[in-house]
Amino acid sequence: MKIADIRATPVSVPLEAPLRHANGCHWGRFVRTIVEVETDTGLLGLGELGGGGESATAAVQALKSYLVGRDPRRIEELRFLIANPTASLYNQRTQLLAAIEFACLDVLGQAWGVPVSDILGGRLRDQVPFASYLFFRYANPVDGSGEVRTVEQLVAQARALKQQSGFRTHKLKGGVFPPRYELECYRALAAALPDDNLRFDPNGVWSTEQAVWFGRHIEDLNNDYLEDPVYGLHGMRRVRERVRMPLATNTVVVGFEQLAANVLQPAVDVILLDTTFWGGIRPCVKAAGICEAFQFGVAVHSSGELGIQLATMLHLGAVVPNLTFAADAHYHHLVDDVIAGGKREYCNGMMPVPTAPGLGITLDRERVAQYHEEFRRLGAYPYDQDPLRPGWAPLIPNSRWADPKDARIPPVPV
Ligand SMILES: [Mg+2]
Repeated sequence: MKIADIRATPVSVPLEAPLRHANGCHWGRFVRTIVEVETDTGLLGLGELGGGGESATAAVQALKSYLVGRDPRRIEELRFLIANPTASLYNQRTQLLAAIEFACLDVLGQAWGVPVSDILGGRLRDQVPFASYLFFRYANPVDGSGEVRTVEQLVAQARALKQQSGFRTHKLKGGVFPPRYELECYRALAAALPDDNLRFDPNGVWSTEQAVWFGRHIEDLNNDYLEDPVYGLHGMRRVRERVRMPLATNTVVVGFEQLAANVLQPAVDVILLDTTFWGGIRPCVKAAGICEAFQFGVAVHSSGELGIQLATMLHLGAVVPNLTFAADAHYHHLVDDVIAGGKREYCNGMMPVPTAPGLGITLDRERVAQYHEEFRRLGAYPYDQDPLRPGWAPLIPNSRWADPKDARIPPVPV
C-alpha cells in the first residue's frame, strides 16, 4: 500500500458566539484545514489541522513530494521524514505530522478492519468523559445571543450545558478580565454547582504572585487542578510550592524534552495531551506511558477541534489507563460539523468512542463544500487579536485586562 495523493481543504465553521481568551478571541468561527490522504488501494484517511487557512493548505501540499509513494504503515518513520527535531529548527512541522498521522492511522484501521483504538492497544473504556468548557463570550453579532460576561451569564451557561449534556466537570477559560473579577466568577460557579468538579485556566498570563493569590483563594473548592496560571516551568514550580492543589499544563510541557525536565524537577502535576501539539495520537500515548511511570496525571487537551480531531481525542482517551480527569473540548460551542451525521452529542457528560474501522468517521461532502465556501468568503481571522481592541496584545505577565462592564458587540465579519 502506498500514499497516492494528499489534499487539504480549509473550512470555516460557525460558533454559537465569539470565544474570548487571554490572547484574543475566536471571532465567531473556527478555521480548520481538513487533510485527506489517499492510497493507491483506494482508501481515504482523514486528518485535521488548526487555523492557517491558505497557508496551512500550502504547507500540506508541500508534503506531497515527501509522502507520495510512501507506505502509510511506516508511521514512525514519518517523524524523521517530516518532523526531524534538528531539521525542525528551520521548519516546524509537528502539527502537519499530526494531521498526516491521523490520516495514516485512519487508513490502516480501514485496511485492517479495526478502529484506531485497537491499533493503539485497545479500548480500556467505551466512552470518554468530558468537561463543560466555559468561555467568556461576546454576543453573537447577528442576533445578540450567547453573551457570557457577567457572573449571572456564566452560571447560566454552566447550568444550561450541564442540563443539556450532563457534564459533571466544568472548566473556566480565564485570563480575559482582572483576576479579582475572574475569582468572583469562579467562586460563583462553585457555589452554583457544589457537587461538581472545577478547573481554571488563564492561559499563563498571570504573574507568579497573582497566581499564588488566586490559588490560595480557591483552595477550599473542588478543583481538579489550576491550569497554566503562569508561563514557564520555573514560574509553575514557584506557584506549586505555594498553593495546595495540582497544577496542569498544555503550554510548558508539550514535547518529550519538556516532559523529561518536568520529571527531573517537577513543576506540573497533570499533563494535558494534545494530539496536534504532540505530533499525533501515538506520541500522546507514549507521553501518557512516561506519566504513568512517574505518577503524573494526564488529561486530554482541546485546541479547538472539528469532528476529525475530536475522533483522535476519543481514541486517545479510550486507550490511556491513567486518564483520571475529564477531557476538554471546545466542540459544544460549534453550531455544526463537517462529519457525516452532523455534530456529535454528549450523553451524561460522555461521548462514545467510534467503533467503525479507522477513526470511525466520514466527511459530509456537502457540509465540507458549504464551509469551504464560507472560508473563501470570510478568510482567516487573527486568533491572537481581540476584535474590540485593535492592536492590543497582552503582556506576560498581563496587566491589560478587558473591562467586564464593556457590553459592546464586536464588529466581526459574518
Ligand atoms: Mg490550557
